[in-house]
Amino acid sequence: MAEANENFLLLQSGYLFPEVARRIRAWQSRHPGEEVMRLSIGNTTEPITPSIAAAMKRKVDELTSRETYTGYGDEQGETALREALSRHYKRDYGVNIDTDDLFISDGAKSDAANIQSIFSRSSIIAVQNPAYPVYVDSNVAGGHTGACDESGRYKGLIYMDADEENGFVCTPPREHADLIYLCFPNNPTGAVATKEQLRAFVDYAHRENAVIIFDAAYCEYIQSEGIPRTIYEVEGAEDCAIEINSFSKNAGFTGVRLGWSVVPKSIRVSNAEEGAIHRLWNRRQCTFFNGASNIAQAGGIAALAPEGREECSRLVSYYKENAGIISQGMKAIGLSVTGGVDSPYVWTRCPEGLSSWDFFDLLLDKAHVAVTPGSGFGSAGEGYVRISAYGHREDVIRAVDSITENL
Ligand code: PLP
Repeated sequence: MAEANENFLLLQSGYLFPEVARRIRAWQSRHPGEEVMRLSIGNTTEPITPSIAAAMKRKVDELTSRETYTGYGDEQGETALREALSRHYKRDYGVNIDTDDLFISDGAKSDAANIQSIFSRSSIIAVQNPAYPVYVDSNVAGGHTGACDESGRYKGLIYMDADEENGFVCTPPREHADLIYLCFPNNPTGAVATKEQLRAFVDYAHRENAVIIFDAAYCEYIQSEGIPRTIYEVEGAEDCAIEINSFSKNAGFTGVRLGWSVVPKSIRVSNAEEGAIHRLWNRRQCTFFNGASNIAQAGGIAALAPEGREECSRLVSYYKENAGIISQGMKAIGLSVTGGVDSPYVWTRCPEGLSSWDFFDLLLDKAHVAVTPGSGFGSAGEGYVRISAYGHREDVIRAVDSITENL
C-alpha cells in the first residue's frame, strides 16, 4: 500500500489563520449583523497602479494576435526583467547582481519553501522566532527536523529568539547551523536590522560555512537611514547568501504572482564545486517550474521603470501611513509597539500580561477588530499581536478609533 510522506505527517495543522477565522465566525454568530474590522491579514488592498496595469493589458493584447503571441518562456524568467532587476539593484542599492544569478518566480513564498530542497537533508537549520511560518514548515516537510514538542518547537531546529531585549533582532546562534533563515523587515515583528547586525550573520556564515536565506519581501518599506534593503549591501554576503524577494508588497502583486531569487554562483558548499548551488537551483527550477506568467513579467518590467517605481513608492507610502496611524493609536492608549516604521506590521505587546489569544478575543469583543495573535508565528510571539496596515485608509481609521474608544 502507498504511504504518505512521513515528513509531511509531522506538520502541525495550519492552526493560526483557520483559528482566527473560526473565532471571528463564532463571534459573529453571537453578534448577528455586527461587522468585524480586519487588521489581521498581510494581503494588499489597493489597486494595481496605472502604468503597470497598462503594461499587463498590452501583454494580454499581444497574446491575442498570431504575430505577437508567445508561449512558454525561459524557466529562469525573461531576460528583460532579469536585466531590469539587475539595474535596480545597482541604481537603488548600489550592489552588483549578475543578471544570470537572478531567477524569476511566481512569488517569494514558493522560493522560500523550495530553496531547502537543494541543500543536504542533514543540514542544520536556524530560524527566527517568531517568523513567517513557511521557513519552519518547508524544512519540516523537507525532512530537516524531528517531531514537534508540546511547546511548539520542532526537534533539530535552532530557534533564534527575538524579544524586547534584543529589539526583536536576534543574534546568530551559539551552535553550528548550515542554513539560516532571516527576514528583514520582519514579518511579524516589523523589526529591521542594521548593517552591523546583518554583518554579524555574514561573519557567522563565513565562520561556519553556512548559507543565509534572506527574505527581503518588505524591503521597499525601509526608509530609515542606514538600514540595508538587501543583504548584499553587506560585504561578503555574495558568497554566503541567497536573497528572496517579491513584487507582492510594493506593486500589489499578491494576486498577480511574481517574485525572484538571487542565487549567486559564488556561494560555497563543502561537498560540491563553486557554482553548484546556483546550478542546482537552475536544475530545480527547470524541472519543477515552467516559468512565471508572461503577463505578470510584463507588469514586473513596468514596475521597475521610472513611472512604475514612482507609483509603487506611493503605494508603499500609503500602507506606511496606515501603519503610522495604527502605531499612534496603540501608543495613545498606552500599549507598547515596535515595527510600523519601515514595515507594514505593528507588533503590539498585549496589556496586563494577557496572552496573544486572550488579547485577540478582547479586541474582537470590545472593539470588533480582528488582529493576528503573535503566538501563531512561534513561541517567542506569545504575549504580542501583529496589527497589519493592509487595508483601505478609512477602514484602518475606523478600526483604530474603535480600539482607542472601546478598549
Ligand atoms: N515572505 C514574507 C516574509 C511574507 O510575509 C510573505 C507574505 O506575506 C511572503 C514572503 C510571500 O510573498 P509572495 O506573495 O511573493 O509569495
